Amino acid sequence: MSQRINLSALNKQQLSDFCDELGLKRYRSDQLFQWIHHKNAKSFDEMTNLPAMLRGSLAEKAELKGSKRAAMNRSKDGTVKCLFRLHDDKLIEAVLIPEFFDDGVADRLTVCVSSQVGCVFGCTFCATGKMGLYRNLTIGEITSQALAINTIAMEEYGKRITNIVYMGMGEPFHNYGSVVDSAAILCDPLGFNLSPKRITISTVGLTKQIRRYADEEQPFPLAISLHAADDDKRNKIMPINKSRNIEALREVIEYYYRKLRRPVTYEYLLFDRFNDGPDDARKLAKVAQWVPSKVNIIMYNNVEGVMLERAKEDRLGRFISELSRRDVRVMVRRSRGDDIDAGCGQLAIRSS
Ligand code: SF4
Repeated sequence: MSQRINLSALNKQQLSDFCDELGLKRYRSDQLFQWIHHKNAKSFDEMTNLPAMLRGSLAEKAELKGSKRAAMNRSKDGTVKCLFRLHDDKLIEAVLIPEFFDDGVADRLTVCVSSQVGCVFGCTFCATGKMGLYRNLTIGEITSQALAINTIAMEEYGKRITNIVYMGMGEPFHNYGSVVDSAAILCDPLGFNLSPKRITISTVGLTKQIRRYADEEQPFPLAISLHAADDDKRNKIMPINKSRNIEALREVIEYYYRKLRRPVTYEYLLFDRFNDGPDDARKLAKVAQWVPSKVNIIMYNNVEGVMLERAKEDRLGRFISELSRRDVRVMVRRSRGDDIDAGCGQLAIRSS
């Protein structure tokens, strides 16, 4: 038998081409798309609005390489971390991060999805970076994380997820095609139908891909994982900075802004006595002024075997006031789920 094609790895156009080749009517392609990317179907048998004969012939020619929920941990703060086992037994994780109104009702429900199994970029503070890269995730392996977490959100909080961030395992722009295609599918009216504004894609600063992203006028907000605002410190914790340094980042971010007139977000993990001093804040404020932007300060989830540690509260306070004095728009993202290994890659590594 010739090799079967994995339909969950196709984008919308490719799926439609596949259906054309089989001589199927256009609406069949839409039905398939909905089963895969909205209903999270794991087999053709589930697709009850397709005739049994068609399901049989699809099963001969095609397959759905899905994922299975392998474990789920709930944190005291409401964060839920989910581990998925892929068809080749690799493990990835996605996290549901709820934010609550004062009365305890869920407000924003953000899911953080993975884009690769492992990662090649080796940031020293990152559990995933210690794994090395196994492979890219397919489009369906990405969308199904959001769909599975949405089911959990409905069960736990009675409400759909409101935001998606590509900040889990892997470097999203190192798997560029599947990442932007999956984001487009999650916004598709036949898919999850989320507004593009609610999907943020982050990168450690792959300059070529940022340029491409700008040229393609991708509608999803861009976040840069900065974590240090000068080359010396960034080189120490993010090897990518040795080939694409702060100046290169500046050039491409200015290009992005000239093209799209859209602000960027800088993600900044605050480490104790490494990047949390007044001088660091001054440098970060300068970066924040390249183009309109906001800065998310993230309190680090300590990782076993990593020397860097979460900054102390008093230093956080001083750091924030240094930034605010310089008119930087700043948000603090409190550490979430640190009782359940919610830092990127921690659970997958512990479970493999
Ligand atoms: S922080 Fe991101 S880019 Fe760096 S090693 Fe971890 S997953 Fe890779």
